[in-house]
Amino acid sequence: MSDQDLVLVLNCGSSSVKAAVMNVAEKHVLMSCLAEKLGNVDAFVTFKDTHGNKHKRALAGEYDHVAAVLTLLDELKLAGLYERVAAIGHRVVHGGERFTQSTLITPEVMKDIEACVVLAPLHNPAHILGIEAAQKAFPDLPQVAVFDTAFHQTMPPHAYHYAVPSTLYTRYGVRRYGMHGTSYRYVTQASADFLQRDVHDLRLVIAHLGNGASITAVKNGQSMDTSMGLTPLEGLVMGTRCGDIDASIFSFLADNAKMSIEKITHMLNKESGLLGLSNLSNDCRMLEEAASYGHKGAQLALDVFAYRLAKYIAGMTIANGGLDALVFTGGIGENSTRVRSEVMAHLEPLGLVLDHDANMEACFGRSGIISTKEAGKPLALVIPTNEELMIAQDTARLANMAL
Ligand code: ADP
Repeated sequence: MSDQDLVLVLNCGSSSVKAAVMNVAEKHVLMSCLAEKLGNVDAFVTFKDTHGNKHKRALAGEYDHVAAVLTLLDELKLAGLYERVAAIGHRVVHGGERFTQSTLITPEVMKDIEACVVLAPLHNPAHILGIEAAQKAFPDLPQVAVFDTAFHQTMPPHAYHYAVPSTLYTRYGVRRYGMHGTSYRYVTQASADFLQRDVHDLRLVIAHLGNGASITAVKNGQSMDTSMGLTPLEGLVMGTRCGDIDASIFSFLADNAKMSIEKITHMLNKESGLLGLSNLSNDCRMLEEAASYGHKGAQLALDVFAYRLAKYIAGMTIANGGLDALVFTGGIGENSTRVRSEVMAHLEPLGLVLDHDANMEACFGRSGIISTKEAGKPLALVIPTNEELMIAQDTARLANMAL
């Protein structure tokens, strides 16, 4: 095996950098870090080693993405890992229609990622800063971009078009793109492996339920439809996003509440969803606790969340032409027995019935079948996602690493 056996996975946000150093062959994280408050003088990085021990470091210099990556580089040297890094994989939120799969980063690819800034004005600029910082810090290493949208480029036109004048698509690229594609790709294969089925002969509906939440119909390994749209705002109820609403709410609020487009957009993205409905929190676990003490807002928020999700599961079943397995993943999908059981209670018309004991067992990283098993009926599964591993595997493959 080569001495260079590690991949550095970078996920750069506007004021944060998340990183993980992975041994891809062993599917093992040797070090991870989170740089926060970038752009502020009190920016800092928290490092975690392979045993879960944490320590913090202040950022020197500019407090920006470059400083964060240089601090990481220094820490890698201290830990004796620097020489072992063979390639760097970057999470990139939006690849538009240009990117249908992960790719080695070249100057031309950078231009195309920049061209997608208009589609993800908060995310793509931060990714570009992160890629440039990594290129400076590790000039000799291959860098790979892995796009959240790429998996959904197989959606048929009837799934991705909005029913608006077609010039909005041809001139401005207004269509549904979807997100969480890296997670869906991972969970699709992991579900097929778990069921010991051929991924090319399997109809899955996968619900990725974290702070952001979406759902995708995956038929024979390909995305057929997904709930997020031009932006992550469409679809399911999320932590702070409203998901589907009547688009006329914009003009209604502008006329009646004298709110600006910016204010309404902020409200729908940051003050809605579980937080807006409960008036308490965007955090599912906290809402479950409050609901158990009788908090009405928390109960309503969880009810709306589960009902919207159940409706989408039925819709995605149609997109797939049937259902072999419903899969729950993400922080809520993997851990919330309450949300899963509320959703499943709506799904008997699809032939899905909850196995209560199995539901309680499939938590905290454990995969499992949580439905009753009846011949000819679909199954419901819990499969933990691992986006970092997926990025690291793509990176290793495209960088021709010997594993
Ligand atoms: P992100 O989208 O930020 O990656 P995660 O996938 O980590 O989010 O999911 C975060 C959500 O998962 C939060 O709403 C959190 O409350 C919820 N969650 C985590 N653990 C549990 C649990 N044991 N029970 C209920 N909800 C949980």
